[in-house]
Amino acid sequence: MMSNPEKTDLKNLTLPMLERFLQGRGKERFRATQIFKWIYQHDAGSFGEMTNISKDLRTELAETARISKLEPEAVEQGSDGTRKYLFSLGDGNAVESVLIPIEGRNTVCISSQAGCAMGCEFCLTGTFKLVRNLTTAEIVNQIMAIRCDVRAAGEEIRNIVLMGMGEPLHNLDNVIPAIQIMIDGNGLQLSNRRVTVSTCGLVPEMERLGRELPNVNLAVSLNATTDELRDRIMPVNRKYPLKELLRACREFPLPGRRKVTFEYVMMGGINDSLEDAKRLLRLTSDIPGKINLIPFNEHEGCGFRAPTQAAIDAFHTFLIDRNVTVITRDSRGADISAACGQLKGNLENRKEII
Ligand code: SAH
Ligand code: SF4
Repeated sequence: MMSNPEKTDLKNLTLPMLERFLQGRGKERFRATQIFKWIYQHDAGSFGEMTNISKDLRTELAETARISKLEPEAVEQGSDGTRKYLFSLGDGNAVESVLIPIEGRNTVCISSQAGCAMGCEFCLTGTFKLVRNLTTAEIVNQIMAIRCDVRAAGEEIRNIVLMGMGEPLHNLDNVIPAIQIMIDGNGLQLSNRRVTVSTCGLVPEMERLGRELPNVNLAVSLNATTDELRDRIMPVNRKYPLKELLRACREFPLPGRRKVTFEYVMMGGINDSLEDAKRLLRLTSDIPGKINLIPFNEHEGCGFRAPTQAAIDAFHTFLIDRNVTVITRDSRGADISAACGQLKGNLENRKEII
């Protein structure tokens, strides 16, 4: 990954960017589509493979450009089929991604940053602070590495969620091109209805995402129903309090009948009472949305606790009875620390590749 840093990594470029790259070198524009397809549809790792491109151009490209790849450093499989991938980024950093096969519909949860600057108190990633943003190439390469495995089993990836390590809206300059590559018909060919970006609530960046990529799904990690609690457990709330965040959700340009997903991590004794459920209902009732209840996944060194099953059931039932669309997310992959908030990307703890 770190070799030839002076060469342009083509996986950092969207198709229009690749067109400009080639035009700047006096090449025909349509070559960009051919190269793009080789990279994303045929998984080409070198220019030599691109047989419909002249030898001269291939040689020239090899001198100025490269095609990066991520190979898993370790893969762990959980008892429920969830697989966690550890990718080394070549500079001593690493990130994790998770493949969640639910009834044949493969969902891949990818990371957007090494660490995270947002400092949410309950989140393991947040305790590592921000190490660095991932490049566009590193974001799409997580998907492509996992796709190799999925395809070997005769299947395809269906959904992408940016819910791994990092705050995707804190790295929009690289995340937006990565999503453009994901949904490009000549690129990874994923449907924009199947890409979801999750944010802790960076309001100006939500507005930018809505302007630049209005067709992807938005998930917002609410996690608290009062500014008092949210200020405490999610420092971002001190800058963008609930009222502003909910306004940004209301104004987010979702097409058709699509809904904002409100993620709500339930923490025992902190935000899991019926009073919280009532406030949650009140806060979100005028926004086309659905609620994802996520029972807190415990991790070492964190004082928060999982809620009781009775608290989860009562909260869930309260909302269902009021016609709210709500699902309680099961802790997929908890036995391999692949569940929400448990990713850390630690190269020291690497386990055997299966
Ligand atoms: N930074 C983004 C996306 C990554 S976090 C965001 O915050 O939305 C993905 C989800 O995991 C968020 O909804 C977050 O609230 C949740 N989460 C973090 N730590 C958790 C934990 N220990 N247990 C359960 N969910 C957790
Ligand atoms: Fe960052 Fe999201 Fe974790 Fe908060 S919950 S620290 S925003 S990854």
